[in-house]
Order: sequence, then structure tokens, then C-alpha cells
Amino acid sequence: MVNETAYKEIEEFLKSKYTTLVAVSKIKPAADIQKMYDLGQREFGENYVQELVEKQAQLPADIQWHFIGHLQSNKVKYIAPFVHLIQSVDSEKLLKEIDKQASKNNRKINVLLQVHIAEEQTKFGFDKKELVNLDTALYPHVNITGLMGMATFTEDKQKVKKEFEHLNDLYKQFEKEKNIKLKTLSMGMSDDYELAISCGSNMVRIGSLLFGRRS
Ligand SMILES: *Cc1c(COP(=O)(O)O)cnc(C)c1O
Repeated sequence: MVNETAYKEIEEFLKSKYTTLVAVSKIKPAADIQKMYDLGQREFGENYVQELVEKQAQLPADIQWHFIGHLQSNKVKYIAPFVHLIQSVDSEKLLKEIDKQASKNNRKINVLLQVHIAEEQTKFGFDKKELVNLDTALYPHVNITGLMGMATFTEDKQKVKKEFEHLNDLYKQFEKEKNIKLKTLSMGMSDDYELAISCGSNMVRIGSLLFGRRS
């Protein structure tokens, strides 16, 4: 169920912070997305390829679809024709495949590099060394527009804050080392988006606050 009041409050707050909202609609029905769309939302985030492909086919064409889940290389081809931003690029192997599929589709695909900032080993992403060593020129059909990260799942706000600050530092370092201008630092979810913004985020990915808890 869409929480219209929460959406309007969050929207207004984010606008005052020049921060982009990606509404995370994974597992939620297309009807919920349509409802949010009718309220004015255009950017949605999905975690599963098949689910995204099905929703994209039945919802308005001007929706900007973000892929935010772990992406297997052999599935890139299904989303390459239409995806707006792949936020969860966590390996060079994946980057290479996105470049190939973008080329096949005669387009450039925008991506964020996912950085491993959390304690948990279960989370994916580049580490600092891999970021620094990355040769972006090898992927001419990919636009690297920023970084994405997820903090450790914990009540310890101090820890989460440290991880967000660390990612913000890496963002600035990456720009400097590669001599490129990045646009997007994607960090913050339902439980920690205000903290993330105070640490430099300009894109948040919010699901449960907008659509209710996922079963
Ligand atoms: C599910 C998910 C979100 C949204 O989480 P909420 O806590 O429901 O806001 C954000 N980012 C990623 C990568 C996710 O997988």
C-alpha cells in the first residue's frame, strides 16, 4: 500500500536538500507503482531482473528505472535496452558486460559503482584499491556517474555515520584521481536517509517508508 502522506513529506524534505528520490518498489505490485507515478514520482528502483522487465512492459514509458540489486552478467542483456541507471555495479566483469550490451543497443548506459563500506561480507562492491586501479577508458559505452553504498545493518548510528563519511571521502578521491566530474552519491534508505544526506548523499533509495514493509 502506498503511503501518500509519507511520500509528500519525504519529497518536500528531499527537495529542500537537492536530493533525488528513488522509490524502491521491489516485490510491490505494478498497481502501487502506478499510484506513486500518479502522485508525480518518476524514478523507481528494482532489485530483480525478471520483475523489472515485467513491470517496465506494463507501466508508463517515461518511468526512469534504476537497477539496485545484485546483477548477474548473463542477465544484463534483458535490461540494457531501457535501464536508466544501474546503481549496483560491483565488479569489472559486470562493467565489461554492460559495456558490451550498451554497444549492442547503440546507447551509453549510466552506472554507479557500488562500494563495499559495510562490515558484513554479504554485501557486494568494489574496495578502495579496486576503485583507484579501475581503468574507466576500457568501457566507452558506460558512463560512470557516481558511487553507491550500503551501510552495515545496525542500530549503531555512529558506525553508520562513519561508513557514510568514508564513502563520501572515496567519492571525492575517485573524482580527483580519475580527473572526472561525478554527479551522484547514492546512499541512504528508509532507516538512515537523513543521516546519509548529512554525510553528502544526493540520491536516496527508499522503499518501506513509501510502500510499507515487504513480506
Ligand atoms: C531494498 C533496498 C532499498 C530500500 O530499502 P528500505 O529499507 O525498504 O527503504 C534500498 N537500496 C537497496 C540496494 C535495496 O536493496
